[in-house]
Amino acid sequence: MSVKIDAFNTSRVCVGKWMRPLVQQTPTRCFALEAGRPLYSQTRAARVAPFAIRTLITDSRKQPTETEQFSAIVVGAGASGIAVTGSLLDTLGHGSRIAWVDPDFKGGRINACYREVPSNTIAQTFLDYGKGFESFRRAAQAVSEPNGLTKLAALEPKSTCSLHHAGDMLQTLSDGLLRDNQVSGLRGAVVKASRGKSPSEWVMTIQGKEAQRLVAPLVVYCTGSHPATVKLPTPSDKTPRTLGLDDVLKPSILRNTLPKDRPVCVGVIGASHSAILVLRNLLDLSRDSHPQLRVRWFTRHKELKYAKYMDGWILYDNTGLKGLAAEFGRQYLEGDQLAKSGAGEIITRVDCSGGAEQEKDAFLRELPQCDHIVQAVGFSKNELPEMETEVEFDNITGGFVDRATGQPVPGLFGAGIAFPERVTDKAGNVEYAVGFFKFMKFLKRVVPSWVGVDQKPAN
Ligand SMILES: Cc1cc2nc3c(=O)[nH]c(=O)nc-3n(C[C@H](O)[C@H](O)[C@H](O)COP(=O)(O)OP(=O)(O)OC[C@H]3O[C@@H](n4cnc5c(N)ncnc54)[C@H](O)[C@@H]3O)c2cc1C
Repeated sequence: MSVKIDAFNTSRVCVGKWMRPLVQQTPTRCFALEAGRPLYSQTRAARVAPFAIRTLITDSRKQPTETEQFSAIVVGAGASGIAVTGSLLDTLGHGSRIAWVDPDFKGGRINACYREVPSNTIAQTFLDYGKGFESFRRAAQAVSEPNGLTKLAALEPKSTCSLHHAGDMLQTLSDGLLRDNQVSGLRGAVVKASRGKSPSEWVMTIQGKEAQRLVAPLVVYCTGSHPATVKLPTPSDKTPRTLGLDDVLKPSILRNTLPKDRPVCVGVIGASHSAILVLRNLLDLSRDSHPQLRVRWFTRHKELKYAKYMDGWILYDNTGLKGLAAEFGRQYLEGDQLAKSGAGEIITRVDCSGGAEQEKDAFLRELPQCDHIVQAVGFSKNELPEMETEVEFDNITGGFVDRATGQPVPGLFGAGIAFPERVTDKAGNVEYAVGFFKFMKFLKRVVPSWVGVDQKPAN
């Protein structure tokens, strides 16, 4: 038997237009705290509070068409959803209630796909993220030690690390935030977002739980992205089989996917961070256990692009190679290093520069030499919940506009890899800011305006 109990504070805090006492539709299932004292008996509060979060996730006995009112709904629990939840807790303060929806609350793609990938940011940057909100510091305290944050803190701060460390930190923060009694975690996928009775109300529907509706004036999509693919020219004689980028970024899977005892050729398309990490994995594999493995590297670029550390800022901070990918590029791929380093015995560079026709010719000529092909050509947004209006993201405000009218869509926002901030560096380059700490920096700038506060309310 599970019963959902939510604690909320009836005292007003300075949270602008979004502040209103959130009275539950089913008052017998809630209690309120006033100046830290429950309206119901202390004993009852103490007894029920620890169950406040998990119960909503598992409660299958809900009445038909149950509607629950929240201050905000966060969709997605990867690095950005965790940061948005933390940011809203800090900004809205006591009395707010946040519904947080994700299929599994396991830290998003970093844990699902990239635990074996080397980071492009140093351990200190992950720590700065992990301690960047007051609510994060509370969340970490709610999780017993050693945990993802304490383990991260033990690493060499100036070095990059395996992303499993970052993933463990996300899991710690996610677990801790789910224990915050202002947060209701709901396992599932939001499939529909519609406007409520008033224009300032969003109603979200979760797959398989259509009878249960979440209502809030503010919704934040942190729904992430997945590897993009492009349609390749089809050679008449042989079409290579596709390998998923996520699998090739995991050496433990890659090792068992490719044959060891016969010649095999893998084509790799792209020259970004992921493409270089794929080349690195394949070269390592050819040296460790797959001596007959060969690689054809399809690239439009004569030179690789590296992040450059300037005086207090980073040139190509979001688009240049960093960390081990940059080291690998310089050591094995750049210019005549491919031949000099010996990597050229395994990797053959296929020049796709010169425009669409030349690229097509290169693919038609070389694809039949490949048994497999991996596309590392960028990331596409995951599908959003069904909505009545077509929306377009504003990368400066974090809001959305109605594509038909160009008008801002009230109460709808986005963050993370799918909805990053657009930044212009000191050299005038325009990039999209993707990375844990960058999500956080963006949120610190925009969330106060999303919720209508000029500054953080006193807690
Ligand atoms: C190979 C690679 C390496 C990277 N390395 C670094 C690095 O070293 N340092 C760094 O700072 N950044 C790095 N990044 C960038 C970025 O920080 C990560 O991509 C990060 O995982 C993005 O987090 P996110 O929350 O935006 O998306 P995700 O991690 O994809 O999370 C999205 C979540 O939303 C959920 N979701 C989607 N749709 C719905 C729905 N309708 N309802 C409910 N839930 C939904 C998903 O299930 C998922 O849990 C890297 C990225 C890649 C691709």
